[in-house]
Amino acid sequence: MDCLHEEEKWTRDEINKAQLVRLQNTVEQALKAPYYAKKLKEAKINASTIKSLDDLKKIPFTTKDDLRAGYPDAFLATPRSEIVRLHASSGTTGTPTVICHTQDDINSWADLMARCMYMVGIRREDSFQNMAGYGLFTGGLGIHYGAERLGCMTIPAGAGNTRRQLKFIQDFKVKAVHILPSYALHIGEKLKEDGFDPRELPAKIALIGAEPHTEEARQRIEHLLGLRAFNSYGLSEMNGPGVAFECIAQNGLHVWEDAYIVEIIDPKTLEPVKDGEIGELVFTTLCRKGMPILRYRTRDLSRFINGSCVCGREHRRIDRILGRSDDMLIIKGCNFYPMQVEQVLLSFPQVGQNYVLELIKEGSIDQLQVKVEINPAFFEEEKKEDMRVLHQLQRNIAERLKDELLFTPKVDLVEANSLPKSEGKAIRVVDKRKD
Ligand code: AMP
Ligand code: ZN
Repeated sequence: MDCLHEEEKWTRDEINKAQLVRLQNTVEQALKAPYYAKKLKEAKINASTIKSLDDLKKIPFTTKDDLRAGYPDAFLATPRSEIVRLHASSGTTGTPTVICHTQDDINSWADLMARCMYMVGIRREDSFQNMAGYGLFTGGLGIHYGAERLGCMTIPAGAGNTRRQLKFIQDFKVKAVHILPSYALHIGEKLKEDGFDPRELPAKIALIGAEPHTEEARQRIEHLLGLRAFNSYGLSEMNGPGVAFECIAQNGLHVWEDAYIVEIIDPKTLEPVKDGEIGELVFTTLCRKGMPILRYRTRDLSRFINGSCVCGREHRRIDRILGRSDDMLIIKGCNFYPMQVEQVLLSFPQVGQNYVLELIKEGSIDQLQVKVEINPAFFEEEKKEDMRVLHQLQRNIAERLKDELLFTPKVDLVEANSLPKSEGKAIRVVDKRKD
C-alpha cells in the first residue's frame, strides 16, 4: 500500500489496541475540562473505568447543545495559554459552537489531512488550490495546513471570483483543488457559458465535501470538470475535514480510526444499529488535547460499509452522508430527506446545476415547491421550438419525484444561473410557510 503514514496499514487488531490506550488517555485529559469533570463524575467514570473498548458505552453522549451550554470554555482541557487556534461550526443562529486547538492538535489535524490528500494521489510536487472559504470555517485553514504539510504549493484562493480561480489553476498548473460540490457545479456551468471547456483545465483531482451531495452530483462534477472527485467528510467538533475520506476505490469513506472512534446509533433508542444499517454517526476524539470530545452525536446519518476495501486499509468505511436526523422534512404526511430530491433531479440530463426546495403553504396545507435550473442549451432550444416539451419535462420530473417521495411536489423549471448561489455551503431548503 502506497500511503503516507504507518497507521494506515494497521490491522484491525492494531487499531483496537491503539484505540484502547488512546481512549484511556482521552478520558484522563477530558477530566481536566470543567464540563467533563462534572459530567463524568456524575456518571462515576474515570480513566480506570475504561478497561476495554466496550466500556466506551458507559460514557454519556455529548450533544451540540452541551457544547453550546459550555461556551466559551467549559470544554477546555488545557490552560488557555496552550491554545493557538479557534474554529467555529457553520450554524448561523444562537451561540456558536467553538473548538479550541493546541499546537499539537493543529499538527495532528494537518497530518490527517495530508494523509487524505496523499491517499487520492496528491504529491508534494503538485500545486493545490483551496477554493473553499477561509475564516472560522474549517474547510479553509484545515485543508490548507494539510496541503502545506504534504509539501504542496498551496494557493489559498478562497471561494468566489471565478475568473481569478481559473487563471491560477491554468498559470500554476494546479493539479488538485478543494471545492464545495455546489460551487464545483456552478463554476463548471459558468465556464461552459463563457465558451470554455472546463475539462481542459489542468486540475485532475477534486476534494469535495463540507455539504451533503449525492453520487449523481459527484458524477456530474467529474464529467463537467474532467477530473476525479473524492468525498471529504468532517465537522468542526471533530477538527473539520480529515475525519473520513474516500480512497481511490471511491466506495465509502475510511474513518481514521487511529484518531477517532466511530459508532453508529439509532437516534431514538441510542443503541448501536445492526451492522450496515443507517443511523447517526457518533465520534470520540482520540488525539486531542485542547478540547477532547467524547461520543459526540453528529446528527449525520450514514452506515458502515462491510467487507475489506481493495486499497488494503482496514480503517472502517462509512457510506456518504445520507441526510441529517434534523433535516428530515414532512410534507403531506410523507417523510423525506433533501438528498432524495437531489438524486432524482440530477438523474435528468436536462436538469442544470442548481436547485432549491421551498416549503410553502397551499391554503392550510404544506407543500413542497422544487425550483430547478434547466440546462441553457435545452431551455433555449425548447422555448423556441415548443413549450409543450418543457411541460412534459416538468411532468416527468414531478412523476419521478412522486415515486421517490410518495407525494407530488410542485416543480418549477427556471433558467440556468437564476437561483441564488451562496458562497459557502449551499442553502437547499427555504421555509416560506411563515412569510
Ligand atoms: P461544520 O462543522 O459547520 O463545517 O459542518 C459540519 C457538517 O457539514 C457535518 O456535520 C455534515 O452535516 C456536513 N458535511 C461535512 N462534510 C460532508 C460531506 N462530505 N458530505 C455530507 N455532509 C457533509
Ligand atoms: Zn479504501
